[in-house]
Amino acid sequence: SEQMLIKSEMLSGIGQLAAGIAHEIRNPLTSLRGFLQLMIQTNTYSKEYAEVMMTEFIRLEEIINEFLVLSRKKTAEFKDVNINKIIQDISKIWETQAILNNVTIETSIDPMSFTVKGIENELKQVFINIVKNGIEAMEGRTGQLKIEAKKLEDDRVLLRFEDQGKGIPKEQLEKMGEPFFTTKEKGTGLGLMVSFKIIESHNGKLIFTSEPDKGTTVEITLPLSH
Ligand code: ADP
Ligand code: MG
Repeated sequence: SEQMLIKSEMLSGIGQLAAGIAHEIRNPLTSLRGFLQLMIQTNTYSKEYAEVMMTEFIRLEEIINEFLVLSRKKTAEFKDVNINKIIQDISKIWETQAILNNVTIETSIDPMSFTVKGIENELKQVFINIVKNGIEAMEGRTGQLKIEAKKLEDDRVLLRFEDQGKGIPKEQLEKMGEPFFTTKEKGTGLGLMVSFKIIESHNGKLIFTSEPDKGTTVEITLPLSH
């Protein structure tokens, strides 16, 4: 039946995800094991190896943190979340990081504040992921990250993040949100997967538009709470 088909599709999706996780976790584990083995065999401590090991540990930690977000109980209570305030907080927090990367953050936030029903920490995590990606996309260039928050006419809020980064090639656009898809040497490729899931669970939409070499725009719409 249709129901069964959907279920088996879901299970194979989970299987793929599990295989991906196992694979991504095995890489840093293998390298940790190798470095430890070397140190044991030679009976010496190497700062150089220890530093590589630290990077691998951080990577493992990042992968696990991203997945923890997905394990949230479906029953977690949705509360009124002030979107303007979150956006303001996040742009403040990221300002320093941006300046260090030759990026200026410009915010345009509707003075009327609006709330959506949701889980504040999860929404924060989404905005942080998007801002971080925007700043990283402008690596090696000077640019601006525009963040806009405004109420739409149909009781939704629009959040726009527009960067002047390297953009996303057309054939990669459909990969946004695919687990472990990354073009970064130290990326996890999990930030967007988690972001899409969070926005979906908040009954919102997340859309990417991009022009290679010009920049990328991420638009998130969420229903306002009443
Ligand atoms: P990560 O940042 O660890 O690579 P993400 O899931 O956050 O993982 O992003 C996946 C990929 O999507 C990135 O590696 C990058 O190629 C692409 N991407 C996401 N946001 C942007 C952006 N604003 N500009 C250009 N590329 C982006
Ligand atoms: Mg990212």
